[in-house]
Amino acid sequence: MLFFILLVLHVAAGIYFNGYSAWWLLACVLALVSILALGSILIHWNFYMPSVNTLPILKVNFNRGQLSVLQRGRQVALTFDDGPAAHTEAILDILKKEGVQATFFLIGKNIEGREALVQRMLAEGHSIGNHSFDHGFNFDWQSAAKMEQEILRTNEAIEAITGTPVKLFRPPYGVTNPNLAKAVRNSGMKSMGWSLRSMDTVAKDKDQLLGKIMSKVKAGDIILLHDRCAITETVLPELIKSLKEQDYTFASL
Ligand SMILES: [Zn+2]
Repeated sequence: MLFFILLVLHVAAGIYFNGYSAWWLLACVLALVSILALGSILIHWNFYMPSVNTLPILKVNFNRGQLSVLQRGRQVALTFDDGPAAHTEAILDILKKEGVQATFFLIGKNIEGREALVQRMLAEGHSIGNHSFDHGFNFDWQSAAKMEQEILRTNEAIEAITGTPVKLFRPPYGVTNPNLAKAVRNSGMKSMGWSLRSMDTVAKDKDQLLGKIMSKVKAGDIILLHDRCAITETVLPELIKSLKEQDYTFASL
């Protein structure tokens, strides 16, 4: 913002003293609006708040008082948003069969009636995070206090089942803004983004979806998927197989 203010002052002085075109001022404002908007939709820019968007290169382990630091190998994290949902059970079956641990970011309002699935996620070693309570289209237009309420309500719903505190939050739609930054900070959560967006929610063809993910994937990627999508369930066995063939292992967050 300081840079922008200095730029505007510089341009205004140029217009006043040197006869620059006033259009330069409009160009500055448009540039600022574009940057603010991109910062909002591109979570990996860490523009309004820091998010974890890739796996850390180093893995730190504490075991019986011993500290060890390992360089992470070819590891990726599979993350599933918007559940528990229609395909969560089948996805849990596939993950169990393949011996893969993943992370589920749950919508609070979807939990009632599906408590057994949440219990199963915990029992089978998956990480469970928070993905707001309502995930409404207006989520990002709410006050910081309202967003914080949604976050805490979902934490309570998860913790009532698992008895384990929830620490990870994934912003709905991956959109961030100053109010959300405040809500995340006040609720003591850690924001989790991604580095590979599969676009499974709009994918029509399983092979195309698989090809797209496999052509982009690299070590350390956090891959965004959705357990409400039928295509995600369908592609998952082949996706895990292809990743294993390329010597990837799997981390939960
Ligand atoms: Zn979502």
